Amino acid sequence: MEQLFRKSVREMVPYHAPYIIEGIKLDANENTYPVLEALRAHMSEWAQTMPINYYPDTDSTKLREAIGKLYDVEADWVLCGVGSDQVIDCLMRSTLEVGECIVVPTPSFSMYKLSANVNHGEVIEVPLNEDFSYNVETLEEAILAHKPKLTFICNPNNPTGSKMALEAIKRLAKLEIGFLVIDEAYMEFTEESGIQLLKDYPQVIVLRTFSKAYGLAGSRVGYALAAPEVIQMIGKVKPPYNLNCFSEEIATWVANHHGHIMPLIKSIVESREDFKSYLESLGCTVYPSATNFLWVDSKWPLDDYLREASIYVKRFQYNGKRYYRISIGTKEQMEQVKRDLKSKVKGEM
Ligand SMILES: *Cc1c(COP(=O)(O)O)cnc(C)c1O
Repeated sequence: MEQLFRKSVREMVPYHAPYIIEGIKLDANENTYPVLEALRAHMSEWAQTMPINYYPDTDSTKLREAIGKLYDVEADWVLCGVGSDQVIDCLMRSTLEVGECIVVPTPSFSMYKLSANVNHGEVIEVPLNEDFSYNVETLEEAILAHKPKLTFICNPNNPTGSKMALEAIKRLAKLEIGFLVIDEAYMEFTEESGIQLLKDYPQVIVLRTFSKAYGLAGSRVGYALAAPEVIQMIGKVKPPYNLNCFSEEIATWVANHHGHIMPLIKSIVESREDFKSYLESLGCTVYPSATNFLWVDSKWPLDDYLREASIYVKRFQYNGKRYYRISIGTKEQMEQVKRDLKSKVKGEM
């Protein structure tokens, strides 16, 4: 029976993520601050008249208009997906012919490769520098050599936190080979968005999500920003009615009230720098981060230590070495992580 499945699917490693509802969850780069009181109040009121018996707006018009306002573009520059994961899949499905390739940095977000494989695409992986900074030269060489349909630049990068300067991105955009997809899932934690390139470089596509800084991972909403003719083509393969009415409502409210989120972002960035110094004081190597997480090289098994205290972080294996990606939670949570780590590490010193 296995033979009935596509070769690419048979060879696939299934995506898995633990579902954790207790303890301190710092393994998926979510915003762990409590849901805003004003948002809860709005959704309670909305629930009184929710139009759940009708199909939602297949074009998510209200949400696309709210997003457009954030960046001063019309709604026809925006395409919404069930997470930016779905937008990534739509990009692959609308561009790749069998055997065509994409260029991705490595290590980076695993979904690019996963999605390309399912969509009959080849994946050209271009390693970051040894210090996990971006290498624009090797990326440029790979693009020139392989002529990819899509090049993904995760900026800033998950899982390493590295950032590519806008000038370097512009250099890749100028090649005008395939689409340059800038995944800005964490751009709210830094600056120099590629959105300012959209008008001059129609082959640039920017991806954003409500899952990280905006604290709506559970509602699954992401989007692409690109020139209307690009959005229209990608939209052809978007499943109809992809966003449900609940997700559209909650993301629209947050887009219209994004000012409420800004203090949380500022606080997360402060905690990040504080926690970075703390880890360095324990002898860990911590890479510069422009995100809400840290990429850590440590001789201690940080994930095992913390799990005993019901604190969850993510372990990675890269080039035969262990690394840890630790999301930054609330101020109180990070104080607790510091306390727990200190007691564990002290015992080992
Ligand atoms: C989390 C993440 C996404 C996916 O976000 P969703 O909108 O929840 O699907 C996309 N890209 C990167 C780099 C991420 O880290």
